Amino acid sequence: MLVTLNEVLKYAEENNCAIGAFNVPNLECVMAVIAAAEELDYPVIIQHAPLHEQYVPFETIAPIMLKAAKEAKVKVCVHFDHGEDLNQLKRALELGFTSIMYDGSTLPFEENIKNTKIAVEMAKPYGASVEAEIGVMTRKETTSNDEVVVEMTEDMYTDPEDALKFVQETGIDALACSVGNVHGIYAKAPKLDYPRIAKIKELVKIPLVMHGGSGIDKLGYENSIIRGVRKINYYTYMAKAAGEAIAKEDSYHFYHDIVMDAIKIMKENAKQAMLTFSMREKSI
Ligand code: 13P
Repeated sequence: MLVTLNEVLKYAEENNCAIGAFNVPNLECVMAVIAAAEELDYPVIIQHAPLHEQYVPFETIAPIMLKAAKEAKVKVCVHFDHGEDLNQLKRALELGFTSIMYDGSTLPFEENIKNTKIAVEMAKPYGASVEAEIGVMTRKETTSNDEVVVEMTEDMYTDPEDALKFVQETGIDALACSVGNVHGIYAKAPKLDYPRIAKIKELVKIPLVMHGGSGIDKLGYENSIIRGVRKINYYTYMAKAAGEAIAKEDSYHFYHDIVMDAIKIMKENAKQAMLTFSMREKSI
């Protein structure tokens, strides 16, 4: 069932949990993630990021994502991730995406506010939700197995007072923050700034989004969720799990067998993440 981001985030707020937002740059990812959500009977977000155009064109994957969402037994939000180009976001809305992220995080603060406001106005006639970001997170989604070497420093993190001003002026539905999380492979375990997450949430009140969500341990997720993170973006470690398992196996003869195993492995990885995000088996 196709729903908006607001609808799944409302569920997350009411149940003090988070919803996984999985990038799906191929059919295998779409099938794996939807199957995992159906097995757990848990809402999910599937998303396309412009960086993944190199794996599949947006115009090709978008109808597949929307069809899979409409036919799913669970609530599925179809989201455009890291849109830096307002025309691209407009196209996503025209195609039927129920949520968009405007990413002006590298722009000067006032320009980010100005463009985010345009995105919010653009989404209104479609009834779609809007996520936006402030703070620096180093690197977009990973395209290689290279380790992240950029050290995160506190001046890159989201400032809680800026977050409040940003949310008040733009009217967004969800805020992506920089709190020690990075996209791609973590060279060492991330040190998430939990007091900062709590402070931002206390001020802005709207659901918080954690990018670079795969590669964080269970306690890291749980500590973030209890402080207000409601959407966790997740891709790299799901793709890595399938890639590495298949690379170890030398008995494949047919490509379709690789595809089937990749779906199985990514489904299990996504299921494990969703189970943690649901807080059904919390350890704290
Ligand atoms: P990872 O690929 O690091 O899990 O991050 C995904 C993401 O944040 C997409 O916006």
